[in-house]
Amino acid sequence: MPHYPYKPFIWDKSETLSRDEIRAIQFVRLRETIRRCSAIPFYRKKFDEMELRPESIRSVDDIVKLPLTTKSDLRDNYPLGFLAVPREDVVRYHGSTGTTGKPTIIAYTRSDLELWSNLCARFLVAGGLKSHHTVQVAFGYGLFTGGFGLHYGIERVGAAVVPAAAGNTKRQIMLLKDMQADALVCTPSYALTIAEAIKAENIDPSELSLKLAFLGAEPWTEQMRETLESTIDIKSVNNYGLSEVMGPGVSGECYARSGMHFQEDHFIVECINPHTLQPVPEGQQGELVISSISREAMPMLRYRTRDIAVIYSGRCECGRETLRMGRVIGRSDDMLIIRGVNIFPSQIEEALLSIEGAAPHYQIILERPKTLDEVRVRVELDRNLLSDKMIDMIQLKSRIEEAIHQITGLHLPVELLPPMTLERYEGKAKRVIDNRNIVTNNL
Ligand code: ADP
Ligand code: ZN
Repeated sequence: MPHYPYKPFIWDKSETLSRDEIRAIQFVRLRETIRRCSAIPFYRKKFDEMELRPESIRSVDDIVKLPLTTKSDLRDNYPLGFLAVPREDVVRYHGSTGTTGKPTIIAYTRSDLELWSNLCARFLVAGGLKSHHTVQVAFGYGLFTGGFGLHYGIERVGAAVVPAAAGNTKRQIMLLKDMQADALVCTPSYALTIAEAIKAENIDPSELSLKLAFLGAEPWTEQMRETLESTIDIKSVNNYGLSEVMGPGVSGECYARSGMHFQEDHFIVECINPHTLQPVPEGQQGELVISSISREAMPMLRYRTRDIAVIYSGRCECGRETLRMGRVIGRSDDMLIIRGVNIFPSQIEEALLSIEGAAPHYQIILERPKTLDEVRVRVELDRNLLSDKMIDMIQLKSRIEEAIHQITGLHLPVELLPPMTLERYEGKAKRVIDNRNIVTNNL
């Protein structure tokens, strides 16, 4: 285990493997994973039905022969049906945050935790964390993987953690100032809440040492990054993960910030059409499907993340040759189908942020007065955009509606709200309010 980065911005040697070397490692680990999965009744049954044995997999491409795993498979086997080791080997449990329903429980052996810390250390170092830094973690600590995952990753790098946990924005700012943290860890929406509060309190940026923010756990946009970075002078880097395959550490941006590098020696990633389940060509949007090929307690084969993103290959300026993913555009279960058009909340966000002063706080309200869905976008305005002239406000409303139309092709009514009216979030933001009163199978 390295104690110092292998090179600047690279934590360990395996991060710079060539594609051939990555494939070779994936092949060995995939076969081993199939062997371990045979201990899980769900997979054993599937393997028997398909007459599949580890030897049936002759290359990494044969992964498509393996069964897909969904969130409902995990729920059906709640809490520990997917455990592949004796319970006494488990040293930690986590769970998904339940953004979309009941949580799923995830287990880790000691070596799983070891790996997890190391993978978090990798993306932190890639994004610019140094061992002399102090990092404030404003993620929730608990079943949610964000807090503990990043916490141990930061310690692994040798940096110091201030485990502030989520919430109490005033105290966050006090700690940032008093402890002179170099970096902040939280969700992008909470980073923005903190940044706004710093601005509102007229704190001189020189009173803070904040240079970096490692943000993840929810979709955000490039425009949001710009807004955040211009509100407080920091560099923010994106990282992605999900508890079902481990937690944060699945992929992350390097300092070049041109897509999130997958940690491919430990995860095999595919991108599929969520309807046909067939692979989509590189560079096209699809659902990410991820297999964790190094985990002991709960190895996971072809987990359908429901996250929509693009994947692409090519050597990055940082030297890594791993596949990268673009931003998560949304979750397939967040996708709204309005008059036959598929849209994601992030597209509305992109439109709003293209208009100066339309603050990045919004809500999408879904209603079904009769048989058709109706959508309204509530937009909170920046103080500078407020005017007591009716004509200004009408023009602004139509400018916003036009921006939404440009991006989504839909004419959605916009409601303007005064500053600071919409709820702020300490964890994952809730953008869509569904008032339709219909029972859906929200998987
Ligand atoms: P839950 O599914 O209950 O929210 P998790 O806490 O494991 O469970 O969250 C994982 C999910 O969070 C991912 O599937 C993805 O939708 C979202 N997510 C995590 N990181 C990012 C990111 N950087 N960008 C966009 N979405 C993210
Ligand atoms: Zn890179």
